[in-house]
Amino acid sequence: MSYKEVENLITATGERSKIDEDKVTRIAKTEREVTVNLPVKMDNGKVEIFEGFRVQHNSARGPYKGGIRYHLGVNLEEVRVLAGLMSLKTAVIDIPFGGGKGGICVDPSKLSQGELRRLTEAFADAISDIIGERKDVPAPDMNTNPQIMKWFRARFEKNIGKKSPGVITGKAVADGGIKVRDEATGLGGAAVIMEIAKSLGKEPSKTTIAIQGFGNVGNHLAHHLYHMGFIISAIADIDGGVVHEDGLDYHKTYDEFTAGKKVCDICMCNVHGPSTDCGNVSAQKILESKVDILVPAAVGDQITKTNASKINAKVIVELANHPVDAEAEAILSKKGVLIVPDILANAGGVLASYYEWQENVEGKKMSYDKSVKALIAKMKKATEQVLELSKQKKISMREAAYSIAISRIAKALK
Ligand code: NAD
Repeated sequence: MSYKEVENLITATGERSKIDEDKVTRIAKTEREVTVNLPVKMDNGKVEIFEGFRVQHNSARGPYKGGIRYHLGVNLEEVRVLAGLMSLKTAVIDIPFGGGKGGICVDPSKLSQGELRRLTEAFADAISDIIGERKDVPAPDMNTNPQIMKWFRARFEKNIGKKSPGVITGKAVADGGIKVRDEATGLGGAAVIMEIAKSLGKEPSKTTIAIQGFGNVGNHLAHHLYHMGFIISAIADIDGGVVHEDGLDYHKTYDEFTAGKKVCDICMCNVHGPSTDCGNVSAQKILESKVDILVPAAVGDQITKTNASKINAKVIVELANHPVDAEAEAILSKKGVLIVPDILANAGGVLASYYEWQENVEGKKMSYDKSVKALIAKMKKATEQVLELSKQKKISMREAAYSIAISRIAKALK
């Protein structure tokens, strides 16, 4: 997805929803984009320069919020797109944050722990002036983790000369993080799916689901859906997946997977009895599963014009960022497929980050059980609101989610 597409979506939604044109013009642009060259002393004694970015898209509703990723594909355009989507995501679930994103163009697997630490500290030095717990709050993202965030926070605190636990979310629990964060995106996705099933009059025990991705999001999603009573008929990761018409036993799948078995080699016949379609399937083929709900929860751009007409599910819930491209969406909409957009479906993670930030900055403690309940309730409410507007205005759920988000940001703009 390009930033031009994000901009066009914002502008078109603004026009359709009759939102003040000047405000929409402002929301369509990022507020600040910073590119930094980070000098890092490598283990061989030589200095190498890495390019880093922080894009602050919009702060009308609160501090900029968004992760920092380390990846060779990171560039300003990618970070800009993700920052824009973060503003919309925080607004659609109605938390007082704006949107931002950051990243460094690097393959972290090629760096030693010492080099990774020095790179992270150089980034913290370069952007300390523009971040802060009430200014801009980063978090881990692709290839970054609580340890990297711990280095980042320590350097930031050194630079400002005081403690600031709320400058980062996604911290380890021992460092002021919260327990629910790890499972939050999957849990939030499960709450959204429950609400969608309810609106379609479908009982979980009669609703089949296929999930592409068995990483952080796909795994926790499968866990929660299984316990809510849905039938998970297929799961796949990058190596391929497994199908069983009677549903997979989540715990057996997880146990075998963590014991070292590939997802595609896990058979359910000894759990549910033999099935004619029990067997393995490729990561791509899983998207064509004959199920009620398809959940892409792996990587972006999985459903395009080349495979859109082969999709059999009646509902697609976007847990990954941007798994369905615009051309595919047009084809699927004609077929009557309901698409639950990423800015709503995968917002559970940033919602948990908000609870963590509230604990750190505003001293509002929340028990694990309370955070689970609060997260489910908030995700359900956001889903209801998007569904209601989509039905009322006869627009797609994506258009409805954008409309709600942009109206809220416009309202907060001075
Ligand atoms: P992860 O790295 O933990 O897991 C990714 C999973 O996708 C793995 O099972 C991997 O095998 C699989 N995969 C990778 N490439 C694939 C391919 N080409 N085909 C099929 N499967 C493939 O990542 P994650 O944290 O679970 O994130 C998954 C998606 O959700 C990403 O798009 C991410 O941007 C999005 N997301 C994650 C969070 C979060 O809190 N983790 C929040 C919002 C959005």
